[in-house]
Amino acid sequence: PDNDALPMPWFGMDIGGTLTKLVYFEPRETNRREIDKETEILKNIRRYLTRNSAYGKTGRRDVHLQMDNVTIRGRRGTLHFIRFPTSEVGSFLQLARSKGMATLLNTIYATGGGAYKFEEDFIKEVNMRLSKLDELDALIAGVQFIDSMNPHECYYWEPNQDTPLDDDSPPYLEPCLSQYVRKPFDFSSPYPFLLVNIGSGVSMLVVSAPNDYYRVSGTSLGGGTFLGLCCLLTGCSSFEEAISLAASGDNTTVDKLVRDIYGGDYERFRLRGDLVASSFGHMCSADRRAKVSREDLARATLVTITNNIGSIARLCASNQNIQRVVFCGNFLRVNPLSMKLLSYAMSYWSKGALKALFLEHEGYFGAVGCLLHYDN
Ligand code: ADP
Repeated sequence: PDNDALPMPWFGMDIGGTLTKLVYFEPRETNRREIDKETEILKNIRRYLTRNSAYGKTGRRDVHLQMDNVTIRGRRGTLHFIRFPTSEVGSFLQLARSKGMATLLNTIYATGGGAYKFEEDFIKEVNMRLSKLDELDALIAGVQFIDSMNPHECYYWEPNQDTPLDDDSPPYLEPCLSQYVRKPFDFSSPYPFLLVNIGSGVSMLVVSAPNDYYRVSGTSLGGGTFLGLCCLLTGCSSFEEAISLAASGDNTTVDKLVRDIYGGDYERFRLRGDLVASSFGHMCSADRRAKVSREDLARATLVTITNNIGSIARLCASNQNIQRVVFCGNFLRVNPLSMKLLSYAMSYWSKGALKALFLEHEGYFGAVGCLLHYDN
């Protein structure tokens, strides 16, 4: 390939409704022409990006996701995964200018709504053009590529029968979510599968073959809804805080369960007493509202949003005769609780027919898909 036509640095960017994802390819060896002319600026960019794991107040590099030994356009190197809130695009542009990025790079491959929304700003502020790719095309390409490069990418959660029940695990969830363990899944013959991307909102795609997919459904009740409602109800101010509140809460003080209505199971239709009959159903009572904790409210919000996504995904999968449901998107970041709930719900409601699968690089696939355009 003619690498001179595509000067370094190589980036792929996904400017989403909440988070901007930036994937940076660090080549292992630099060619002579690059060494000649651009080396100082390039070196600075490379050093800045790879030596830090925090950028400004809000930028983060997910060091644990870094992938070494990746080949793109015949070049070997390392993929770095960086994210920052989309509300900080302005600071990113300032940074790009101060690091001289724009003098090396006149086009960035980008996707997500922000690739449209901020197109003018990129031109005005740093004279960079955004070459826009469709976000779902990029997402699928990214999933396929990362999965082919990383044998550990795909995994699932399963109740561990070997460990005895511990007394700390909440009795209202069966089987206890704390008993779930993570196991690798061989995703080498994946088709067909349902891809459920849980970002600010949710998209569900039926993927039948590498270049054959369509968007079958979606819902506006997504990760943005979880965080928005949690902030309103608990006064929390970050996703991490919302998740940690939820982890120590109990949703049964907030949700009305089948047993709260029936006194036990609804036997005729085999609905167990501990199933949620009405999400937030207890909050109609002033007494209960007065007693409820922030943790419980966060937990109920998490359970409500997660189970709703789970039901829609399950309906789509069974309509399409699909057994594998792959969940991705940053809602699942640092959120094993939702993954376990989804795993449990998928298998419980389908009587074991459906399998919930997860991907290590969670929210970065769209950005990776953009980076892959260097490969075309
Ligand atoms: P989008 O492309 O719509 O921004 P993402 O896949 O990046 O979607 O997921 C965004 C969602 O991820 C948020 O709505 C929130 O639920 C969750 N999330 C995870 N980490 C963070 C974070 N550091 N800040 C804000 N939201 C986060």
